[in-house]
Amino acid sequence: MTVVDLENVTFAYGEQPAVKNVSLRVEEGDFLGLIGPNGSGKTTLLHLMLGLRSPDSGSIELFDEPVDDFNDGERIGYVSQQATNRGGSMPVTVREVVTMGRFAHAGHSRLTDEDHAAVDEALETVAITDLADRQVNQLSGGQRQRAYIARALASEADLLALDEPTVGVDAESRDAFYQLLESLNESGIAIILIEHDIGVVTDRASRIACINTELYHHGDTESFVESDALTEAYGATGQVIHHHH
Ligand code: ADP
Ligand code: MG
Repeated sequence: MTVVDLENVTFAYGEQPAVKNVSLRVEEGDFLGLIGPNGSGKTTLLHLMLGLRSPDSGSIELFDEPVDDFNDGERIGYVSQQATNRGGSMPVTVREVVTMGRFAHAGHSRLTDEDHAAVDEALETVAITDLADRQVNQLSGGQRQRAYIARALASEADLLALDEPTVGVDAESRDAFYQLLESLNESGIAIILIEHDIGVVTDRASRIACINTELYHHGDTESFVESDALTEAYGATGQVIHHHH
């Protein structure tokens, strides 16, 4: 099974393409780090991958199906770039959010004991059992991330897609969060992570896609570290690159 397959994908909001001629694949079990300078098209590319936007040209498949035909939304857990900042205005508890992940999966509105057990297990896995009855909009950014991930786990997602999930999260929680992602990946969930900190990506991801509108590198992390893709993709922008090694 191929999780995402992009062939020659181009997308423009206006005249200037935000994503140009990108071809890449995410296979089962991959942990893909998607990196690039600010405004380089990372979020746009992720939206294209998940079928949230349609390309101007090129083709996209999700789980071996054309993305337009794909309607198995519970296979994907998506945490958007704003998720840490916004809790939404609706007063819903963590348990309710996670339970929502179960409805699509159950296919009916009355939840079984098995569904409730799956919710408990998901809360346990991301270590927020003690927050189950708290309102989501009263949590810290890091806690809220975990609630969204627990929702994806409850729905038994095959792919977790996260767009800069630790912006505004303190260093210690960040580290614990990336350890959680790594162990979820080891349990078989494919991960696509957009992250501005290159050090985090090269430490955690098994594969790297480096873009600046066009794709500068797509391959395993070792070959990325040895390549010039980073300087080439970031070079023109003069942005400061964080690198831990
Ligand atoms: P990144 O996530 O790498 O920061 P984005 O995908 O958000 O990059 O943006 C890529 C380019 O597309 C940028 O030049 C940005 O200004 C532009 N862009 C993003 N979203 C929109 C939008 N909704 N309308 C118009 N232009 C947009
Ligand atoms: Mg972005």
